[in-house]
Amino acid sequence: MAEEIVVIEGDGIGGEVVPAAIDVLDAAAASSDAIDADGFTYTYAAAGDAVEAETGEALPAETYEAAANADATLFGAAGETAADVILPLRDAVGSFVNVRPAKAYPGVDAVRPETDVVFLRENTEGVYSGHEDRLSEDLSTLTRVVTSSASRELAEFACEFVADGRGPDHRDGFTVAHKANVMRETDGRFREEVLSVAEEHGVDADEELMDAFATKLPLDPTQYGVVVCGNLAGDVLSDLAAGLVGGLGLLPSANIGHDNALFEPVHGTAPDIAGEGVANPTAAILSAAMLLEYLGYVDEGQGVRDAVEGVLRDGPRTGDLGGSATTSEVTAAIVERL
Ligand code: ATP
Repeated sequence: MAEEIVVIEGDGIGGEVVPAAIDVLDAAAASSDAIDADGFTYTYAAAGDAVEAETGEALPAETYEAAANADATLFGAAGETAADVILPLRDAVGSFVNVRPAKAYPGVDAVRPETDVVFLRENTEGVYSGHEDRLSEDLSTLTRVVTSSASRELAEFACEFVADGRGPDHRDGFTVAHKANVMRETDGRFREEVLSVAEEHGVDADEELMDAFATKLPLDPTQYGVVVCGNLAGDVLSDLAAGLVGGLGLLPSANIGHDNALFEPVHGTAPDIAGEGVANPTAAILSAAMLLEYLGYVDEGQGVRDAVEGVLRDGPRTGDLGGSATTSEVTAAIVERL
């Protein structure tokens, strides 16, 4: 039976790059024997600034429900309402890990062209769990939440990820980045649980203090492959890696749950170029490749990645990569290769 994919374009260039990703999903489905002859079923749902202006709600209940009941969701971007949209959507799909690859592609002007790392970021707790208080005129506090169960769940995912060969080829196992020398209780627990799950699974795991990691990654990214982090560290360190590979228009991400997942480009709504038809669709298309792999269509996902890589190498390219092609021209070139 055709899988049901919920499509939320959102605001700004979301309405340009998500349709590009759907064209690529359709082309991948048409060229694959494994995918149902009818392709995927798409259910369109609304979220973001425009919907809020119209209805007063950035994430209507029917969008939340649709994502919660889908096989997977493809999301574009939301503007001012981003936090009101994406945090509940991650909850709707029961996401516990955020997967963020940062790979430098040939033909793209990267600060570190040898970068090929994948961050696996804990997606539910740490300092982002919402426990902030203003206790007085002078004092605000934040409670950092770390549980053994979430740390172990992330580590189990990481072990499976590397065992399936989904990490970069140049490194076995994974690195856990933490600050357990200072946050002895919270990151101490996180570190201990992650390393103990790795040991139980016979997976090679080394560790780095997150500040040392932030220095060492730009100096020599080839030291690292899969990197396992808490919520805030994963957010910051994966953005650092994004800076090394040359451009927000290239980076996909996945929010994975136990039986559902949501895929989105890392970039936002890019209001400066929205509506001009010149946005780079690569991040959204690589997010669709991750979606294919999540649904079990591993060869098809790889096929999309290869097509994207070919177009990044040979062109056409959008303006952010020094070219003058439109979103549709780049998408058509990728579809053509499929
Ligand atoms: P938001 O408020 O939605 O986060 P933003 O402009 O602050 O929007 P991004 O949307 O991530 O943040 O954009 C940052 C910069 O990167 C902008 O100059 C934007 O044009 C550029 N950019 C982001 N995504 C793309 C893309 N897919 N193609 C081309 N340029 C992009």
